[in-house]
Amino acid sequence: MGSQAALSLKGIGASPGIAVGPAYLVDRRRVRTPKLRLSPAEVDSELMRLKTAIELSDHQLSEIKDRISQGEGHDHALILEAHRLMVHDPMFIDEVKKLILRDRINAEWAVRRVARKIKHMFDNIPDDYFRERRADLDFVADRVVRNLMGQAVDVEIEIPDGCVVVAHDLSPADTAMLAKSGRVAGFVTDLGGHTSHTAIVARARETPAVVGAARASDQISPGDQLAIDGSNGLVLVNPAQEQLSLFQETMRRYRASEQMALKTKDLPAVSTDGCRMHLLGNMEFIEELPSLLMHGAEGVGLFRTEFLFLERDHAPTEEEQFRCYRHVLEAMEGRPVTIRTLDLGGDKVPGIRRPERELNPSMGLRAIRYCLANRETFRVQLRAILRASAYGNLRLMFPLISGVSELREARSELEHCRSELGREGVPVGSRFPVGIMAETPSAAWIADRLVHEADFFSIGTNDLIQYSLAIDRHNRDVAYLYKPLHLSVLRSIQTIVIAAKSAGIPVAMCGEMAGDPIFTLVLLALGFNELSMTATQIPVVKHIIRRSSRAEAITLLENAMRLTTAEEIERYIRNEIDRRFVEPP
Ligand code: PEP
Ligand code: MG
Repeated sequence: MGSQAALSLKGIGASPGIAVGPAYLVDRRRVRTPKLRLSPAEVDSELMRLKTAIELSDHQLSEIKDRISQGEGHDHALILEAHRLMVHDPMFIDEVKKLILRDRINAEWAVRRVARKIKHMFDNIPDDYFRERRADLDFVADRVVRNLMGQAVDVEIEIPDGCVVVAHDLSPADTAMLAKSGRVAGFVTDLGGHTSHTAIVARARETPAVVGAARASDQISPGDQLAIDGSNGLVLVNPAQEQLSLFQETMRRYRASEQMALKTKDLPAVSTDGCRMHLLGNMEFIEELPSLLMHGAEGVGLFRTEFLFLERDHAPTEEEQFRCYRHVLEAMEGRPVTIRTLDLGGDKVPGIRRPERELNPSMGLRAIRYCLANRETFRVQLRAILRASAYGNLRLMFPLISGVSELREARSELEHCRSELGREGVPVGSRFPVGIMAETPSAAWIADRLVHEADFFSIGTNDLIQYSLAIDRHNRDVAYLYKPLHLSVLRSIQTIVIAAKSAGIPVAMCGEMAGDPIFTLVLLALGFNELSMTATQIPVVKHIIRRSSRAEAITLLENAMRLTTAEEIERYIRNEIDRRFVEPP
């Protein structure tokens, strides 16, 4: 263990799970670029040197691509292919040549200058996609510069088994290779966000990861003992024995619940007095499908399709979307798949550019509002969904519906697309349920009207809580007010459930509240048909349901709702859960 005192770093929880292990630092920082002026006689040979370095870079990238394509790395291979294209992009290469010829500077310097100029053009576009493309440009430039300098690139990183890889940033090539080695217990990077490559690869491999951890790679030394929590974005450096024991205990529970997942995978979530709940999974990326099936998801309760748009600079075409939705439907083999139409806006800023920045994006042109204002984008998605409906058990869901007119408008757009496809002779599946996310206080208040026009409700507690309690869900300063057990939230949820039940339409919950075991008994009492959550949460929630009776849960809820403050209610519920499940699952 290193000598540093205990230190705690906060980053973004990018891939859930706990990892404890020694730090292994991967230093992929940029090489220093030599800057030289050339004499006129040296220009031609400099251009030759550039040509050779470009060819070498291309060759290396195609080699890694072939190596990882042999395994499961299809998506990573696509990223490497994009890097190859960048190496040959005239916008890049012609500019470099121009600088060598015109300014008579060496190739290394010219490569850096051009990379910087292109990155500058991306700078004013504040979204994740372009942030990642800036990083890609650095990886490509770095490779060319190293090749120009005759430095080794892609040195195989020999990592010891079970270590936590710490880096300033990792290139897609590094991440794919490291993940493939099966030796990495976790990842910590200074840079990156939820949609960065490290995050995607880590999630797909179910390896815990914390990204965006600021100066982690400076503050952590090789061999430091690390404990990372990939759900909450926490990194403890050389933790005290008690802290470490706590992490190890959480890890043990996590692993035990993973084991339980395999055991209870095919068992139903049914209470001791016969109340059946359906537990489904939330997903953003198709790489999550194996995990959903492994954890016994009875379907997809929420497919956040906007993530297809966040990963790229232009909206995916109808054909691309169709193939993706079809893939998910087929992989789920007849289980329900709830596709939510685009929920862009708010914190999810698309790769496709939006005309202006909003002062208050959560209240702005978001979700269904964005789609109704961008009809062409909406229609492309609806057509793709309609076409895919022929390949499985599809349900369609509109996000952030706040009024009946909005729902009518969205449904009419769907019918318009259905007729259009019919006229074009394009096959479409039979009719499927069309529901809404109930996630605004307005939807709760008019739930008794919405039931006449929606085939199902799915409650999005992340937003329902944010809008009910008037707290920005991304603002740390008001996070202490974010209380799922606030009486106003419970009453809103109850109103929505009662309206759905009396109209005889199914009601689900797909916000984060659905997957937290603290709330399971409350949700059982409220009478949900379905809960949808992150795949890894399913086993614990199932465990609680299978060991509880709904009758008892109803008494618990009644008692809780007689209390007043969120703190009182929470204390009461936590005590009850602790009392019933002393020996944690
Ligand atoms: C929610 O609001 O609870 C929800 C599930 O949607 P999102 O988190 O994508 O806004
Ligand atoms: Mg929402």
